[in-house]
Parts: sequence; structure tokens; C-alpha cells
Amino acid sequence: MNAIRPLRTATDLRDARLIDTDQMQAVDAVAARYAVAITPAMAALIDPSDPNDPIARQFVPDPAELTHLPEELQDPIGDAVHSPVEGIVHRYPDRVLLKAVHVCPVYCRFCFRREMVGPQGLGTLTPDAMDGAFAYIASRPEIWEVILTGGDPLVLSPRRLAEIMQRLASIDHVKVVRFHTRVPVVEPARIDEDLIHALKASGKATYLALHANHPRELTAAARDAIAKLVDAGIVLISQSVLLKGVNDDVETLAALMRGFVENRIKPYYLHHPDLAPGTGHFRLTIAEGQALVAALRGRISGLCQPSYILDIPGGHGKAVVSSASIADQGGGCFTVTNFRGEEHAYPPTV
Ligand code: SF4
Repeated sequence: MNAIRPLRTATDLRDARLIDTDQMQAVDAVAARYAVAITPAMAALIDPSDPNDPIARQFVPDPAELTHLPEELQDPIGDAVHSPVEGIVHRYPDRVLLKAVHVCPVYCRFCFRREMVGPQGLGTLTPDAMDGAFAYIASRPEIWEVILTGGDPLVLSPRRLAEIMQRLASIDHVKVVRFHTRVPVVEPARIDEDLIHALKASGKATYLALHANHPRELTAAARDAIAKLVDAGIVLISQSVLLKGVNDDVETLAALMRGFVENRIKPYYLHHPDLAPGTGHFRLTIAEGQALVAALRGRISGLCQPSYILDIPGGHGKAVVSSASIADQGGGCFTVTNFRGEEHAYPPTV
């Protein structure tokens, strides 16, 4: 059955044959706690005969989500402690997040903002709150970059996006505007001329960080949408989450990163999964992640390498967590490990 609107309920999922009738009660229980939506593009990508389908795992509710572990946090990356005014997160000196909307076209089961997004979430900023957010940005000359996230900013209409860009265009010290979005993959039909036009503003560089986690997400329709954005002069970078059962093997990660580069998207972040409530079934250990990233280094071009990143819980910012390829031996000597895992002295011993 081909869905024509997002799947949001257990009945929708059963009718689309993504769950069985005997799973409906458990899915209803998860849906009562966390938002559910699967766009037609993503529903069509799921193989219902595969119990381990990596697309289904990202979007179909799992009863494991109701298991909350003591280390999990409502606000795992600490947005709230860095929010000086509604809609703004100011964690690093030269950039802010502008969270204009807390709605997404899909709801990822591992979402790090799952307590804030969705129909019952924080909604869309009111006009007054928007005024406050722009006033904050305008009054801080150190803000060089504004990152629109949320929620997914590309659910906003082209008219609303154009308004935001025009307001940012009038703030001289803002030079870069970055959109974090899943739309080109999960709802590629939204990427049309009006939307692309709305993302651009004179004198500002527009970047778009595309969130995708499995190479199958880069469908023909997604690749077309990406090409339209790149051809329009928007710079695309990637962000992915390292997820158990989705992309936690080197072949899948290599195919994903190569897929990005082939579509003119520079791999940027590979996030270690955050300590979001009910997401323990997605988390690898840091050591497992480091081993995967080291294997990736040995396998694919430097152009395809993402930074493996951990958001330090509590809002302390991002840290690179790739295993070090250099060890200080003292006296100005180092041991350097190459892409094959072989150790070499630096400077070379003679
Ligand atoms: S698109 Fe982003 S904000 Fe929305 S549910 Fe997925 S991870 Fe969360």
C-alpha cells in the first residue's frame, strides 16, 4: 500500500503493513509518549518483510522507547541552560541556534530533542518571540552564524522562510545562515524553486546540513532535490547519527559517506547518539564508535570522512571523539598511526 500522507497512528502503520495487529497496542503506548510521523517517501522505502529494516528502525515506534535509563536526560545536549531568550540557544561565542519551529516531517525514534518536538511539543515561535530572537541576534555583534534548527525549519512555508532570511539579511554581522534539515530526503517534493529562493539572501552564505543515516535514504527523488539545492549555490554538508541496527557497520557507513560526496554533500558530523530518553537500544559504546570510525579511515577517501562527535551532556558543547592517531612519546617524539593501523615514529628514527 502506498501512503499518500504521513503515517501517524498504529492503525496507519498496520494498514501500511509496517506493523502487525498484535503490535498495535505497544505502538499506541509509545505514540502516547513520543510523536510519530513517517512520510510517504520513507514509508515506501521500508521493506515490511525485513524485521531488521534500517529505515523502519529509525521511524517505526519500538516498545524499547518506554525503557528510560538513569543516565538519560530530558534535554541531553543542554539547550535550556544556554537559552537567553525564547527560540535562541547561544552555546558558542560566534553562533546561535534559532529554533523557529518544533515540528518535523518525520519523527526519528532516537531524536535528541524528542521531549520538545512534535504536535504536543513547543510548537512554532510566536511573532513576539521571533521579534525577541532577532533583537537578541542583532544586539550581539559576535554572532557570525545563525543555525536554523528545531524541529525541521524546512517545514515552514517559503513565505515564512523568506521572512526569516530577510530579517537576517538586515543584520550586518551575520554572515552565514545554516539550515539543519531532513526534508530533502524525507519529503523531497518540498524542494522546489520557491523554497530554494526563500533560503537565499543577498550578502549571506547559505549552508544546509542534511540529516541522513543510511545510504538507502539517498533515493532518486532525494538526489534530485539535493542537486537542485547545490545547483542553486547552497552549500550542503551532512550530519548523521551512529545508530545500532541502522548504520553500525563499516560497509554501510562507507556507502553513506560516499553517497553524500557523490551528491556533492561534504560529510560533516557523525554524532555519537545522545542520552535521549528511551533511546538506549540505539546506543553503541564510544569504543565501538571509535573502532568504526578508524575502520572508515582505512577504507574511504579523505573527502568522505566525517568528524565523529559527542555532544557533552549538560550543554558543554561538542567534542571530537575519534581515537587519536598520534601519541606523544616525550622529547619531541611521537608515534603516528596510519590508515592501515601501522605505527610510525615521527620524526622518523634514523
Ligand atoms: S528530524 Fe531532527 S528534530 Fe526532528 S525528530 Fe528527527 S532528529 Fe528530531
